[in-house]
Amino acid sequence: MAIDLVTRNAWGARAPRGSYSNLTSTRGVKVHYTGGRVDPRILDDHDRCVAAVRGIQGGHMDGNGWMDIGYSLAVCPHRKVFVGRGPRHLPAANGPGLNSGHYAVLGLVGNTGLVKPPDAMLHGIVDAIEYLRAEGGAGREIKGHRDGYSTSCPGAALYAWVTRGAPRPSTGPAPHPVPKPEPQEQEIDVPEYGSFGLSDASGYDVQANTWTNVNFDTEWADPLNDHVDAGANPSILDGPHLYTAALETTLTGLPAGAAGDVRFVEIKSGTTPGDILEAGAVGRWTVGDDGTANVHHVEVGSVQEGRKLRAQIRHAATVGTVRVTGAKLRMVVHR
Ligand SMILES: [Zn+2]
Ligand SMILES: [Zn+2]
Repeated sequence: MAIDLVTRNAWGARAPRGSYSNLTSTRGVKVHYTGGRVDPRILDDHDRCVAAVRGIQGGHMDGNGWMDIGYSLAVCPHRKVFVGRGPRHLPAANGPGLNSGHYAVLGLVGNTGLVKPPDAMLHGIVDAIEYLRAEGGAGREIKGHRDGYSTSCPGAALYAWVTRGAPRPSTGPAPHPVPKPEPQEQEIDVPEYGSFGLSDASGYDVQANTWTNVNFDTEWADPLNDHVDAGANPSILDGPHLYTAALETTLTGLPAGAAGDVRFVEIKSGTTPGDILEAGAVGRWTVGDDGTANVHHVEVGSVQEGRKLRAQIRHAATVGTVRVTGAKLRMVVHR
């Protein structure tokens, strides 16, 4: 592919102040970047490339006081090569005493914004180097501005490419855009909130020295529909689930100072009552002076597939009638 030159007329260059110093040959070419921010929107809008090169010329002439843009050629992401001072003219961008040794080629990337040269720009820089060899007597050297001069130029990406010998990219000059993969629909596990209670204040009896289920006859929230609706039912969850569950139960009819236990258990799904497959840590509770036990128990755990979760209480009082008169269960569940 022939070089795609943008003439000075085409990019609206200002005329140089005075005449150039002439060169018949150089040892090669030095590659530069802008050293500032390059607006990434130039990738989609070549008019912005033109405006950027005009801005650089203005900075060099008005800011640095140079007679013209300092570069021999400038290359945009569209593989277009802007004529700066052109071949056989002394550039100004390499630093004092270093301009007659090498032509200066700008790649239109910076230290922020657009920092990575697209493949088309690398092709364009090679086009520019070959053009300077053919038209300006440039030698074989390809260097970065920082070679022999204290500067970050031409930036990490371009300099790495230069030190590899400035190879043409293996991709074509105008690769088809790679379609972006469809974003994967992510399944986010949002925990559900559940809460049950025992609303029947008359409660039910609890025999001594027997683990007894805590029943719930009311659902305030049962988002996973694991609790059986009809009547007072002890099942809380049907696995597999992760959960954090907090139980509050009230027992009456116990002597002050008596003690008892509370736990969560897992039984086999579909069995009532089922054998206990696994029991959680046992909590200990005691009865207050008014003969009421307010039992609190919290468990964090997992219920495997094929298992149901229940809460159970136990006491050892052998006198009177002990009743569960209130229960609340609140939980956060992961499906
Ligand atoms: Zn430079
Ligand atoms: Zn462009």
